[in-house]
Amino acid sequence: MNQKHAVVIGSGFAGLSAATHLASNNYSVTLLEKNESPGGRARKFASHGFTFDMGPSWYWMPDVFEDYFSHFGKKPSDYYDLIRLDPSYAVVYGQDDILDIPANLDEFKAKLEEIEPGSANQLDEFLAQAKYKYQVGIHDLVKKPSRSLLEFTSLSLLKDIMRMDVFQSMSAHVRKFFKSDKIIRLMEFPVLFLGETAENIPALYSLMNYADIALGTWYPKKGMHEIIAGMVSLAEEKGVKIRYDAEVEEIEIADGLAKGVRLKSGEKVSADVVIAGADYHHVDKHLINPKYSNYSEEYWDKRVMAPSSLLFYLGVDKKLENLRHHNLFFDEPLGPHADAIYTKPRWPEAPLFYACVPSVTDKTVAPEGMENLFLLIPLAPDLEDSEETREKYYNIIMDRLEKISGQEIRSHVIFKRSYAHSDFKADYHAYKGNAYGLANTLKQTAILKPSLKNKKVNNLFYTGQLTVPGPGVPPSLISGYVVAKEVIRENS
Ligand SMILES: Cc1cc2nc3c(=O)[nH]c(=O)nc-3n(C[C@H](O)[C@H](O)[C@H](O)COP(=O)(O)OP(=O)(O)OC[C@H]3O[C@@H](n4cnc5c(N)ncnc54)[C@H](O)[C@@H]3O)c2cc1C
Repeated sequence: MNQKHAVVIGSGFAGLSAATHLASNNYSVTLLEKNESPGGRARKFASHGFTFDMGPSWYWMPDVFEDYFSHFGKKPSDYYDLIRLDPSYAVVYGQDDILDIPANLDEFKAKLEEIEPGSANQLDEFLAQAKYKYQVGIHDLVKKPSRSLLEFTSLSLLKDIMRMDVFQSMSAHVRKFFKSDKIIRLMEFPVLFLGETAENIPALYSLMNYADIALGTWYPKKGMHEIIAGMVSLAEEKGVKIRYDAEVEEIEIADGLAKGVRLKSGEKVSADVVIAGADYHHVDKHLINPKYSNYSEEYWDKRVMAPSSLLFYLGVDKKLENLRHHNLFFDEPLGPHADAIYTKPRWPEAPLFYACVPSVTDKTVAPEGMENLFLLIPLAPDLEDSEETREKYYNIIMDRLEKISGQEIRSHVIFKRSYAHSDFKADYHAYKGNAYGLANTLKQTAILKPSLKNKKVNNLFYTGQLTVPGPGVPPSLISGYVVAKEVIRENS
């Protein structure tokens, strides 16, 4: 049998997943990555003895990673060691008002009960619904290529969908169960990963609460990049040829078929099928002749993008006190910050932020006696991010971090690197400098997402966080699987 050659563009979770699935189904696969190392938004870098994960830091939904490796007869533990974090994370509501979220469910319920009597029982019902949504959502719905409504018309699935609160907002759903503002903020936090506020995210996504509370927050020893390192080893075991510093400049199309790609170096790589795991907009608007684009610039401009971020990677020359591995700073109201992200895009006055200190758990990511500190402020896409503005926000959040954690930090920072919109654009061709792709609003769910297949070019497919099923590491892994299945189905 003639082996088909697939070219996959981009070595993020989605590209690696698609490439490995195709290679293990008898495709010869070349994966082309513009950067010098793999992982896309989940790359790492080292400096001054610190090792920084550049993007994702929350390992949620461990079953999705198990599923991924099990397709190839493997387990995550063949590639990296996981630790369950306890506390899972801390929520900072204000000075001296910090809530540790215990990994143990009974301890968690006891904490809720202290805040709002009766809420522990409410949590049982809330989680029972969330579990059902998780099981149907993550093990069935997200694996649909979402190319036609017909995929969703089986009677049992329609019944499932009706039970899944697709048409109610997450905000209304949470308020049916809880009254305390603190608990509401806690329950609404996970949907921020999906790129919109709880008012605009369907209550289907309370499945994220099940992931958070029941399945737990995990950490791969040596950092999140270990997942990528494991995926790269597995891809290579399966025969995927990965090439770095290999930026694709054009997908060459003739007679309605992609014939291959042209690299920035001028080299051409031929292909029977092309799967683009780079940002969808970049592929659709810059890598193919406009006459083959799936969507217009107006279409893209109207999409609700998930936020961008201002990040700081900091090496601190002492141990920090009063900080957990994950710390959510909710010490300012969400409303005005959300308005600055989604309604009137601008730099926020008083941003919420997230501080990650992986060296609390892992000695390998910082020199002895020191701390690895990662700070993240979610921001509207497409903002100007001058050095001066970055520095202003560094000081705004450092003032709060130092005050609330009760220590001097700035004078102990011996390594500092910032990262924002212009870096996302330069490194990943990110549309509007987005960090997490396209938001999972109702109007951007399933068949309403940018299609995983080009409508005019029969062998050109898309994968990654701007198409189905959506943003985040687990969905990107699934996206690669879904697109590979479609390629295989159409070619068999
Ligand atoms: C700061 C940050 C924090 C996050 N935190 C979390 C978290 O805690 N948990 C979680 O689950 N998710 C998190 N996410 C989201 C998650 O990281 C992403 O959803 C996921 O990594 C996206 O994977 P992807 O494969 O779709 O895209 P990418 O990782 O962007 O991969 C696309 C690849 O294509 C390459 N490429 C682009 N153009 C070309 C070209 N022309 N030629 C060749 N290659 C090209 C890029 O270099 C890149 O390697 C976070 C993201 C960011 C940025």
